[in-house]
Amino acid sequence: MSFFGDLVGQDRAVAVLQKAAAAAAEALAGGRGAGMTHAWLFTGPPGSGRSNAAKAFAASLLCPDQGCGHCDACHQVDVGSHPDVTWVRPEGLSYSARQTRELVLKGAGAPTLGRWRIMLFEDADRATEAAANALLKAIEEPPPRTVWLLCAPSPDDMIITIRSRCRVVTLSTPSTEAVAHVLATRDGVAPDMALFAARAAQGHIGRARRLALDEEVRRRREDVLSIPRSLSGVGDCITAAERLVKTSTEDADAATTALNEVETTELRKVYGEGSSGKGLNKGLVRGGAGALKELETMQKSRATRIKRDSLDIALLDLVAFYRDVLAVQFGARIELANEDRRHEVEALARSSTPEDTLRRTSAIMQCRERLAANVNPQIAVEAMTLALRTPTPA
Ligand SMILES: [Zn+2]
Repeated sequence: MSFFGDLVGQDRAVAVLQKAAAAAAEALAGGRGAGMTHAWLFTGPPGSGRSNAAKAFAASLLCPDQGCGHCDACHQVDVGSHPDVTWVRPEGLSYSARQTRELVLKGAGAPTLGRWRIMLFEDADRATEAAANALLKAIEEPPPRTVWLLCAPSPDDMIITIRSRCRVVTLSTPSTEAVAHVLATRDGVAPDMALFAARAAQGHIGRARRLALDEEVRRRREDVLSIPRSLSGVGDCITAAERLVKTSTEDADAATTALNEVETTELRKVYGEGSSGKGLNKGLVRGGAGALKELETMQKSRATRIKRDSLDIALLDLVAFYRDVLAVQFGARIELANEDRRHEVEALARSSTPEDTLRRTSAIMQCRERLAANVNPQIAVEAMTLALRTPTPA
């Protein structure tokens, strides 16, 4: 059961999935597909392991031994090469209707190896309205051996017509102890570091692991958390905003530059142009220019998404900082996410009011909303840093 063992602090969800996998195996043994739930919705906060839970469930449906973790089927599911699992991630900011219709068509086929055909949608909440409607049709009348696994932060992120046809599996935020334990036992992280990273990541396992293992990631967090105390003048606010935006742009560049080049070269080869890169568009066979343009649009949208995600991590670190300040102001005796800078948190708690803290927190949340709504990042972040500033006493 090594797949389900990867899910930290999710005992309830694991029990539900194991029971469902056993029932599915029985249905198959009886030669029936009936009784199987064909649409599942995995929900939980970012980092709680939604897609890992879906993957574990896929393995348990396709493995003759309900997810043993070491047979061919399990291995293929794990590395993403199983012929009956289609793993769908949005390349850009959203799934298009065309992309979704192609998948629906694919999902209509019978499984190659005779068990189930699994369509696993990561970030299903990123489906456009037209894409969601295409998906809905597929879920309404599923072929007997097709299972849709959708992942989204919460059930409310899916249109109600889809949600009502899915069985919902809810993952919870794992505790600090559970995350620290996994870092220490599986990744060999020293106990102190594991505890620090687990607290700082607030239950996001992937983020905790990166914090524990990568010094650069820790340095960036330090940078972000130095912002609250650096904002005395308007100039400081603008500089801090510029730095935040610049870092996220660098993240996006680092993640995409090489990938873009490979994709573009591949596409040119397909359309019969040499790799010289000259005579772009002219030398391409019919349709090539359109395909190239489509690829460029996707690449741009992907860079925007990575930039936005990177900025969002910084904003969430800031939210956690002010939440800690508020907890101290209210005298709550809890473990802080920023236990490592308790001194600083307490100083700010004394020198400001809970109203100040709430106002600052909502400025950060508003910034996140604006970024999601495509507001220019520099403008949105500047408005936030200005709101975080400690006003000089009159
Ligand atoms: Zn197996």
